[in-house]
Amino acid sequence: MICHPFNVTRRALIGGMVAAVLPLRAGFAAIPSMKVVLLGTKGGPTPSAYRAPAAVAIFIDGFLYLVDCPSGVAGQVAKAGFRLDQLSQIFVTHNHSDHVVDAGNLMVLAWGSGLTLPVTLHGPPPLKQIVSRSLAASSYDTAVRMREEGRPPLKPLVKVHEISAAGMVYQDARVRVTSALVDHFTVKPAFAFRFDTATRSVVVSGDTTYSDKLVQLARGADLLIHEAMYLPGIDQLANGNAMLKEHLLRSHSTTEQVGLVAARSGVKKLVLSHLVPAFPSISDEMWLRGVRKTFKGEAVVGRDLQEV
Ligand SMILES: [Zn+2]
Ligand SMILES: [Zn+2]
Repeated sequence: MICHPFNVTRRALIGGMVAAVLPLRAGFAAIPSMKVVLLGTKGGPTPSAYRAPAAVAIFIDGFLYLVDCPSGVAGQVAKAGFRLDQLSQIFVTHNHSDHVVDAGNLMVLAWGSGLTLPVTLHGPPPLKQIVSRSLAASSYDTAVRMREEGRPPLKPLVKVHEISAAGMVYQDARVRVTSALVDHFTVKPAFAFRFDTATRSVVVSGDTTYSDKLVQLARGADLLIHEAMYLPGIDQLANGNAMLKEHLLRSHSTTEQVGLVAARSGVKKLVLSHLVPAFPSISDEMWLRGVRKTFKGEAVVGRDLQEV
């Protein structure tokens, strides 16, 4: 596909309809159809009856880009109305289990769902080892299906791109993905990702306490999906475990900190996700109170399978 120079204005055809004349952003050739869906919205490894673990699907012109692979992510992709054989690229923010535990499973299930094109997982080391060991754990099944269902070998469909530094991660004709190093206590490196497309810029924070680098990455973005921790709920969650409380406070962002990041970066819309704790007793108003001290733009508390 031919990429056009910066900020070209052109008339685009979408589904046979003549769309309004829209300014195009750097390097993209056409107005894409794009959807951003929260596959889950809770933070942490403990399964919940109320929310699935946080992950984001970005669907552009039939290609599926995912951020993070928590437990059950393949099922959430299906519930969101996407197909696993539409998977294109996967971005893993860091290697905590609630972000990566299903990375290999997702590839096995996508392969079993008819995946034909290679998928690359981008994320910090030791992502290669995590994925290859997970694929190895499924090797009995994959061998049987290759033998009895005529499926192609799985390995050539799974690529891993380990990233250790901030900056450019990936680009194709639909999207450019850049990253910032965020502050997730001892878990290093941990990344936030920014997706720039012809029509929209979307930033996913990953797990982080307040981060100036995230403010810079999110500068002027249309949408910021940010993790959030509700401070008054932390004692109840930690239940006397002082080490867990310390970990939470140094690893995650209070709602006040999230508001500050959104205000300082000047994003148009803020969505809270990766909620800690994900108790149903914490109302949207309680989540947003801290945010609104500084951020005056649109702010919402994410729901599973919500388009944002
Ligand atoms: Zn997490
Ligand atoms: Zn984490």
